[in-house]
Amino acid sequence: MLQRRSAAAIVIRGARQNNLKNLSLELPLNELVVVTGVSGSGKSSLVFDTLYAEGQRRYVETFSPYARQFLDRMDKPQVDAIEGIPPAIAIDQTNPVRTSRSTVGTMTELNDHLKLLFARAGQLFCSGCGRPVRRDSPASVYEQLSARAKAAGDPRLALTFPVTVPKNFKEEEVHSLLKAQGYDRIHARRDDVLEVVQDRLRMSTADKTRVIEGIEAALKIGQGKVNVYPLDAEGDALAPWRYSSDLHCPDCDIHYSEPSPALFSFNSPLGACETCRGFGRVIGIDYGLIVPDESKTLAQGAIRPWQSPSFHDCQDDIEKYAKKRGIPLDIPFRDLNAKQRHWVLEGEPEWVSWRKSWPGIWYGVARFFRWLETKAYKMHVRVLLSRYRAYTPCSVCAGARLKPDALLWRVGTKADADRVLDAGRRFLPQGAKFGEERLSALPARSDAAAYRALARVLREPSPAGAAR
Ligand SMILES: [Zn+2]
Ligand SMILES: [Zn+2]
Repeated sequence: MLQRRSAAAIVIRGARQNNLKNLSLELPLNELVVVTGVSGSGKSSLVFDTLYAEGQRRYVETFSPYARQFLDRMDKPQVDAIEGIPPAIAIDQTNPVRTSRSTVGTMTELNDHLKLLFARAGQLFCSGCGRPVRRDSPASVYEQLSARAKAAGDPRLALTFPVTVPKNFKEEEVHSLLKAQGYDRIHARRDDVLEVVQDRLRMSTADKTRVIEGIEAALKIGQGKVNVYPLDAEGDALAPWRYSSDLHCPDCDIHYSEPSPALFSFNSPLGACETCRGFGRVIGIDYGLIVPDESKTLAQGAIRPWQSPSFHDCQDDIEKYAKKRGIPLDIPFRDLNAKQRHWVLEGEPEWVSWRKSWPGIWYGVARFFRWLETKAYKMHVRVLLSRYRAYTPCSVCAGARLKPDALLWRVGTKADADRVLDAGRRFLPQGAKFGEERLSALPARSDAAAYRALARVLREPSPAGAAR
């Protein structure tokens, strides 16, 4: 029976733990498997004392001897062989489920490790351009400048920093304040921002200490920003190279807040998606319940909630507006095209409010339900709403449960992400402007896709371990 060596299964041979009688079986991976049996038949002996024990034992063995002393070690179970077993997690009946936000991750405390991992080892990617956001130091700016100048043929550079002219100040006043500190050259002015020249130099001949000191001073007065303009042969400035000492994308001019573990927790107001409050799904209306029979036409009453006497006015409305807009009333709902269905369900995009838009613009089923919700203090309305309500994935976080800002932090490599999620299924955090191509090049975000990266990082010997 068990000759076939399947890669997608756990193969157990000769299990004899506790009361098991030389049991051999194959369990498929990536499927929900239920083990049932009368009391005393050996369910726990198989699941906890054999399968989990062996998975945990082998997982612990992948760590360095130093790390192993901090982990619970389990005895080798009584079994001839187990093949194809991944690291295991056991949740038994004693783990209480406290809130509907609980997951395997929170119950096993794996989530706490993930939060820390993302806060400490995460890399932020800009929501504007998708490039890594780095914190520059005078030394790192110097390194980058050297490389860029070399690649650009060692042009003359104007090292500048921005100074905003305060509202109640005249530009001349700012000039004299700058002059008092030794700055008398202004490179350019954009609106109320002056670009003040710190230094002009060529990287090949400039003294390193002088350049680094210049960058340091510029970052200080420029409140963390330095713009370096390469100059052409005529002394005209080309597009600047921008650097920043805080979490800021100099190219898009977007500031980011410092990461804290709470930012990566859907149980914290800091991290939880504001739309679904960290649940990953929202209560919405279920269109399957609104149109339970798609073979009906609009005239025959395809929109079910409008067939009751209290909302028959809405049925009259849709018939009137459908005629005006050329939406067929006499073909089955399922034969309407996507645009026509959208019109029926979502209404017209010009809509502003009931006061301004009705009558004149078609409201649609969705706005009808939003209006109903304002009347939810009435018992019969609540009953009606509950009949058409269903949980739908949150449209803002798509079930990731975290704020868009948290989802811009990534851990691991693109290869790690590829192993768990194919490129077509990557999720673009809301508000991010970079395209599909950049998105698929990013490492994993802080949810299930990151567990693999976590396992890999944990296995690398820690510096503390190496020192001992
Ligand atoms: Zn950017
Ligand atoms: Zn959400």
